[in-house]
Amino acid sequence: MRVLKFGGTSVADAGAIGRLVEIVAGRRGCRTVVVSALGGVTDRLLAIGGMAAHDIRAAKAALDGVLERHVDVAGALAHPGAHPMLDAMLRGIARGAEHTVEAIAAAGGTSPALMDKLIAAGELWSSRLVAAFLADAGIPAQWIDARHVVHTDAFHGHAVPDLEATEKAVRRLVRPALALDRVVVLGGFIGSGPDNATTTLGRGGSDYSAALIGACLMADEIEIWTDVDGILSADPRVVEGARVLSALSYEDAETLATFGAKVLHPKTIEPAAARDIPVRVLNSRRPSEPGTRIDASGASDEGFAAVASRAGLALLELTAHGRGDHAFASRGLQALADARVTVIVGEIHKDRVAVAVDSGTDFDALRKLASAFADVQVRSGLSAVCAVGGRLANDPRLVTSAFALLDDRRIHLVARPGGSSALALVVDDRDVHDLVARLHDSFASDRARDAQAVAS
Ligand code: ADP
Ligand code: ASP
Ligand code: MG
Repeated sequence: MRVLKFGGTSVADAGAIGRLVEIVAGRRGCRTVVVSALGGVTDRLLAIGGMAAHDIRAAKAALDGVLERHVDVAGALAHPGAHPMLDAMLRGIARGAEHTVEAIAAAGGTSPALMDKLIAAGELWSSRLVAAFLADAGIPAQWIDARHVVHTDAFHGHAVPDLEATEKAVRRLVRPALALDRVVVLGGFIGSGPDNATTTLGRGGSDYSAALIGACLMADEIEIWTDVDGILSADPRVVEGARVLSALSYEDAETLATFGAKVLHPKTIEPAAARDIPVRVLNSRRPSEPGTRIDASGASDEGFAAVASRAGLALLELTAHGRGDHAFASRGLQALADARVTVIVGEIHKDRVAVAVDSGTDFDALRKLASAFADVQVRSGLSAVCAVGGRLANDPRLVTSAFALLDDRRIHLVARPGGSSALALVVDDRDVHDLVARLHDSFASDRARDAQAVAS
């Protein structure tokens, strides 16, 4: 039993979907395929939603363009008999999106619920295409509407899944299709709330969908197919010499993802780890590469150290009125929880709670809750850099050398998010890329020195 998730670049066009079909055909046993929208489509739909209120004609024209992209991909099917049905389905999804565009225009602006409804079209289109391509290649495939499977709360844009309801739906809808030897195909990222309204799990959330479904199925492995050879020791767009990590613990993978390693949505790990299901990150362009295996046993490579960075952060500081008391920190944390502030990392003191959060956080709700007992200050324009790995735990000198690299750069917060195997620093945006490259270089040369010492 396997769940295979393909990201936006791995379903971007007919060629990519052809590679997906080969990968799925090469896997034995029960297979469930979870797909993202075609690369760039979610961004485009978000832009269309933004356009709808002030220029509905432009929004509809742009939507037609996105539909045509999908219709063109469908044109590459080998058996033309399937075309009319698929074409009608693709156009039906576009009509639904057009109604949403009209609703946004009529309301004079968008809302999180309308945006979710609109952007869900991306995964509905892609999953219909992928199911058709699998069938076209002679692989019995069954498309299932992911909104009937992934049940969530009503928090549009960042909905929280209801595992129990999702598990029930997987038993009712997915398992019977697998039992008939069909490959099940679902869109990632999307679900439905308590009122059946369409919800989404947050950007990059198809990984999370795959992990949830994998956990509900008690899959043997969850495969995340993307455009790089696995999880690398740094973002390859930032660091040229980044290398593939062969194995990672759940905890280290989650820390790297939380601190910006975009290759994996940070919430992916939790459902997989809860049921001890390995996650493997693989390259859909180079399927014979082994990728990165993430499981409970941890890194096979004790000497590894990786660096990630996450931009767009703000430092939120709650400072006690007066000198604070033993209850200050817990009141501060309770206020953060009640205001639904997602904390990335933080420091706690008797009279100060400082946390790094996404800069798009709604701070007003927190101000209302906390201003009675604390001053609330927000500093934006920050990024976090995080080094992760067994090497950091085994060799404390690495932490010292990381601090030495900072020179006169300002540090707004220091934390050890994954215990001794991680070090996170919140710094000014302008310092972040240089710092990632320097930390990575320093770890890499340290590692090379060790390897030389062992060899001689
Ligand atoms: P997908 O569309 O397949 O979900 P994403 O764009 O979300 O793919 O994630 C893959 C990208 O993540 C890579 O192309 C790479 O640029 C970026 N990335 C950032 N950090 C890392 C890392 N440590 N290892 C691998 N890729 C990373
Ligand atoms: N299509 C969604 C996004 O672009 C979800 C995903 O790709 O995982 O965020
Ligand atoms: Mg992704």
